[in-house]
Amino acid sequence: MIRSKAYAAQNKTSGLAPFELYRREPAADDVQIEILYCGVCHSDLHTARGEWPNTLYPSVPGHEIVGRVCAVGSQVRRFKVGDLAGVGCMIDSCGHCHSCAEGEEQYCENGFTGTYNGPVFGGENTYGGYSQTIVVKESFVLQIRHAADDLARVAPLLCAGITTYSPLRHWRVGPGTTVGIVGLGGLGHMGVKIAHALGAQVVLFTTSPGKIADGRRLGADEVCVSTDDAQMAAYANRVDFILDTVAVPHDLDAYLSLLKRDGTLALVGAPAAPHPAGNVFNLILKRRRIAGSLIGGIRETQEMLDFCAEHQIVSDIEVIPIDYINVAYDRMLNSDVKYRFVIDMASLRDA
Ligand code: NAP
Ligand code: ZN
Repeated sequence: MIRSKAYAAQNKTSGLAPFELYRREPAADDVQIEILYCGVCHSDLHTARGEWPNTLYPSVPGHEIVGRVCAVGSQVRRFKVGDLAGVGCMIDSCGHCHSCAEGEEQYCENGFTGTYNGPVFGGENTYGGYSQTIVVKESFVLQIRHAADDLARVAPLLCAGITTYSPLRHWRVGPGTTVGIVGLGGLGHMGVKIAHALGAQVVLFTTSPGKIADGRRLGADEVCVSTDDAQMAAYANRVDFILDTVAVPHDLDAYLSLLKRDGTLALVGAPAAPHPAGNVFNLILKRRRIAGSLIGGIRETQEMLDFCAEHQIVSDIEVIPIDYINVAYDRMLNSDVKYRFVIDMASLRDA
């Protein structure tokens, strides 16, 4: 077994503190990665603080993992020691259901295995990226083609990047479409950048007037302050597709009414409590849809990484030491992140 320092929550209220865990020795099809950086997703906070109903403790979050390969099994073909590599939200799935066969492992009918918090339909706990090293099956490890200097800024692509890229592609956002991105946090700022790169007209909806200039710099053509009813009314029936990244329950009707006929509101934000139910007339009178989307499959995650490398897209980050993580969570709750915290894992050596 391989010993690794880590940071874990022991229960809902403990906060995160130093912890030690063990990784398996790499099997023939495994890749071992020395973790250099790990992004901080709002899902880490939901999980560590037990806001979703299924947290297994101790909980070691982190599913925006980048680093260098430090060992490979005898059957590994795509990686060699020294290569850059990434791991996102999943480390395994059943591999034979129709979703897995179609490369949509995140919808595995038997439940994919999360990088942390174990198999989604029950089973043993798994420990994520707030740690020094991880051992993952080659087929769930991603290749990184960005420059090594960009590595910290690439980490958030492994969750925030794919979670926005996948629905934007699924609903065919591109030239000629007007897309709304709701919330300028980790997911939202990647959504703005990717939708812009796909050639869409991008409207950012934010509750924070202080983020207007950043929204434009990141790629929004227009910014609407969603707490201003007059600004919201100006977008009624004008938007083709809206991607909602907000992590708290809120009024969906305010966004549904902005969609054109046949428009879709896709929810990726995953609040602990339900949204107030939508007004049915807001749907039926314009054949509008409310949909959801979960991260993206491994093939599509690689496609997203390559797309971002080609378009020179990385995340805007604030690098933090691991012992800042509890403060970072509190700042995330106050929408005070520009626009993703990334842990420098070198800080774990002295923890
Ligand atoms: P984040 O960085 O905290 O961003 C959320 C943003 O929502 C904030 O920056 C803020 O943007 C906006 N917001 C916050 N409070 C609000 C309020 N009261 N009313 C309206 N807007 C508010 O979080 P994240 O890491 O992007 O994650 C967002 C959500 O997506 C979380 O629930 C997370 O668990 C979920 N998630 C889902 C998937 C998936 O596969 N579906 C994957 C990853 C994460 P403004 O200041 O611009 O308003
Ligand atoms: Zn995430």
